[in-house]
Formats: sequence, structure tokens, C-alpha cells
Amino acid sequence: MTHDLTVRFLGVRGSIATPGMAAGGNTSCIEVVAGDTRIILDAGTGLRTLGNERMATGPRHSTILLSHLHWDHVAGLQFFTPVYVPGHRVEIASGPNGVMSHDAAIRSLFKAPFFPVDFDDLGGVVTTRELKPNDKFVIGDITVTMAKLNHPDPVYGYRLEHAGQSIVFATDTEHFACVDPTLKKLASGADILIYDAQYTPEEYPQKVGWGHSTWAAGIELARAAAVPQLVLFHHDPGRTDDQLAELEANAARAMPGTVAAREGMILSARGESGRGMNVARERAMLLEGMENDQRFELLADLGAMIAGEVELDDMLATFAARVARALGADRATLWLIDAATGDIRSRVATLPELAELRVPAGRGLVGHVAATGELVNVRDAASDPRWDGEELAQQIGYRTTSMLTAPIERRGQIRGVLQVLNKQTGAPGASRNEFDTRDEEFVRALAEQIGRALDYTTLRGDDASRGMTVRGRFNHVIGRSPAMAAVYEMIVKAAQTDATVLLHGETGTGKGLLARAIHVNSARREAPFVHVDCTTLPAALVESELFGHERGA
Ligand SMILES: [Zn+2]
Ligand SMILES: [Zn+2]
Repeated sequence: MTHDLTVRFLGVRGSIATPGMAAGGNTSCIEVVAGDTRIILDAGTGLRTLGNERMATGPRHSTILLSHLHWDHVAGLQFFTPVYVPGHRVEIASGPNGVMSHDAAIRSLFKAPFFPVDFDDLGGVVTTRELKPNDKFVIGDITVTMAKLNHPDPVYGYRLEHAGQSIVFATDTEHFACVDPTLKKLASGADILIYDAQYTPEEYPQKVGWGHSTWAAGIELARAAAVPQLVLFHHDPGRTDDQLAELEANAARAMPGTVAAREGMILSARGESGRGMNVARERAMLLEGMENDQRFELLADLGAMIAGEVELDDMLATFAARVARALGADRATLWLIDAATGDIRSRVATLPELAELRVPAGRGLVGHVAATGELVNVRDAASDPRWDGEELAQQIGYRTTSMLTAPIERRGQIRGVLQVLNKQTGAPGASRNEFDTRDEEFVRALAEQIGRALDYTTLRGDDASRGMTVRGRFNHVIGRSPAMAAVYEMIVKAAQTDATVLLHGETGTGKGLLARAIHVNSARREAPFVHVDCTTLPAALVESELFGHERGA
């Protein structure tokens, strides 16, 4: 069977579990899935949730491939419930560790005085398998290739392939001074590379020989191996959420689309026709899996925006309708907070009656969510005092019954609000049509993905204040390539001067957009932007139009 190869992150931290982090504090554990084939990579503390999930609903056969045996990669094993349950089968495999047989090593993890349950008392549920350093083998629908990486104790990287898609897991490896040829070969042409980025390039010189790497080395490797999607992994336990976001932003500036792994994040290696290469699509979704295709597609498209370069407005054109449909709601509105005025403006809405709505800061439910960052699910709008929609309802003749409103946050600041109105199809057994907890979780995931996508447009706000730069900047000029970044820089420079700017280029290359961008970013922004189409004016008039004329001339 052909399915998309996807990866889910259950633990993203390195060295030791770090509670209280929004990005996730559990240590190394991911699950790669293709159809019915599921492979667990590493057994850090993130493994515990997966065990619970498998006990509740999941498969009874678990295959775990370990990168190596350091604590942060095995500390979840003893708390992976299936190992204690007859009827389950758990196979734990890895390459040679250089000290003892793999079987002896796993046995010593279940041994007094370190752990009260002895391996022999597990009832034969667990088997071990020692792999060869450069093994290639098949598990279900997935082909696995191994390679030995660089770490104080032997460590192995894994390339997992299915139907032309591939994901490479390379953690706890050091780059030293150049691209590791073994790893380059393992990752060559893969869709997704999950790579150790424990240190920043600035920190690394003090950590040489510790067996970890940096985002910068990850980018060099991804480029050398032609991998479009880099995922930064094995975050340092001391890395705060803010620092991680900064590290991620630095990496994404150098290689667009690069993301930091976060607990609960899902990525697919699905290829996209027309793009010329596979673009990994992020599907930040929920542990129980996505049932609704529309929801899935929506998140995937937003993810593709991050990995690729798209026209924000093109995507947003159909956005509200798709959000509404995916949530079984009647209407949806994306509101952005104007950083300059504090006003909250509707960016796109399924409200054809109004071109743009504006809500003063703090007003109504949208204002409440924008101010507090709270997700609010109103099941009965008429009885909720925060809903002041009566006025609006009369204005447009629209009656609101249920309402789900979520903040869009990015880098610690509230940027906007996503709101959906009037659930059309309630959950079975619901007394009336209202948004349920699954809808809440989806809206939360969607809002997060929107925040991430907006960050990659020129609408992005700055770290120090809430809201976004809704006017000015280069709102309509989207593109994040290094070439476009250079163009933005030039716009800023040109906008600061009073000099006349001449843009030249072929028809359709966006001269008009750039001229407007220079205008709205200059001191002249409050003055009108006058567009003169010279091609339709007689030559003599062009001169007087541009430079004025003397009376009587
Ligand atoms: Zn580690
Ligand atoms: Zn290690």
C-alpha cells in the first residue's frame, strides 16, 4: 500500500527531561508511520505517552530503533506500558554499543538497584535485536538504512523510506568542521532531515567533542544532501522557549522552512507535484490523529506556506471558507492586531457583507481574546456578556449562536485572533450545535500554524510588542528567498531617502508593488501614492505630469 510517510514528535529535548517548556520537555522519541507500519525511534521520556496511546487504541506490536543507549534515549522504556502486558510484543533494536551485547545492555535497564522490575519478569513481551552498523532491512512497508554517526559512545542514524519518500533521523552527532560524508550519503535526497541542533554556533566552540551539533551545521548538511526540510532536534535542556524560537528564526533565515521540533508536531514527507521537489508539510495536529481530511489539508497547506514561498493573499483568499468548512462552522474570520493603533482588523472573513471590520482593542469577544490570549468557546452567544454582537447582528442581519475564538500567538506576543461562528453539525449526542473540545484543539493547532505562516510574511510583528505591522512594510510582496531579502533591504534603504528611485525590469516583475512598498515605508507614507501610467499618456504630457509645467507654457 502507498501512504505518506509521516513523523510525529513525542520527545524533542536532549540530555535530560525539562518540564515546563512549551516546546516540550520530554527527551528523544519520535514515531514514523506509513499506513499500518509504525516505527518508534528512540525511547526517551516521550515514549510514555505513546505507550498509553497504544494501550488505549493502538497496535500491539511495537518496534523501537535506538540511536544509542544514553539515558535521554532510553529513560522512557521502563514506562512504556506495553512491555508489561501479555499479548503485546516489543522489539528493541540498535547497533553495537562497543561495551556489551545489545541484549545485555537492555537487560541492565531493568535491574535492581536501579529499577524494581527485572527484565526476566517482563513475561517475554520484549525481544532485543542487535543490528549491524550499516544494516539495511525492511519493517512492514518501511525500508530502513543505518549509518554510524559521531558521538562519545557509538550512535546510529536511520533513514526510513516508503514509496519514494524518506525521513532521516540523525541525533547525537557532531559535525566537527565539515559535512560528515557518511551522513551526507545517508541523507542524500531525503524529504526530511531531523538533526541534532543542541548548541548554537556560538556555543559550539566550548562543546567540541561532546557529540552534538548546531543548526548551522544542519543547514550545511541539508544543502549538501539536497534535503528540502530540516528539523532541529535534541534541544538543550537549558534552552528556553524564547531562545528556541530565536534559534529557529536564525536557522529559518538561513534556510527557509527550517523548523525546530516541538512535542506534538507532525510532518509529512508527501511530495508535491509542480514544485519540482518534495516539500515537507507540517501537520501540527493532535495525538489521537486527524480524522477530518479538510482539517488535515488546511494545516498541510499552511505548512507548505512555511516550507515554500507563496502569495499570502492567494492563500488567504479561500482561507476563511475553508476554515469554516473544516470546523463545520458557518463563518470564519481571521483578525490581525494592528501594532500601530491596537485596532483589531478582519483580514479575511466569510462575511461578504463587509469589506473590513474593525474592533477597538479590548472590545467584545475578539477584543477579550486579543487582550488575554485565552481561547474562548461560547456555546450560547446570547447569554455570554462578552459577546456584544447584537449591534453587528443588526448591522448585517446575522445571528450568532455558538462561537469559538482563539488567539494567534507568535514569539510570545498575541498577533491576531481566529474566530469561527455557528457550528452547523454538533458532535453526536450534543444537545445543540456547539464546538467541542476537539474543535478547540484543532483551532488551537490552526492558530499556531497561522502564526507561524504569518511570521514568514512581511506582516510579521516584532518581538517586543503585540500585533503586526498591518500597514506599511511589504505586505503585498511575499517571498523569502535570499534574493528577496536583499530586495527588502534595498526597499528600506530607498525609503529612508528623498532621492528619486528608478526601478527597471520587465513587465510583470512587480515594479509597481515595490514602488508602493517604498512609498508606505517612507516618511511620505501619509501622502497619497500616485500611480501614473506613462504608457497611456502622450510623451509631451508625461513630462508635465511628472515635472509640472509653467503657467502659459
Ligand atoms: Zn542525547
Ligand atoms: Zn548521547
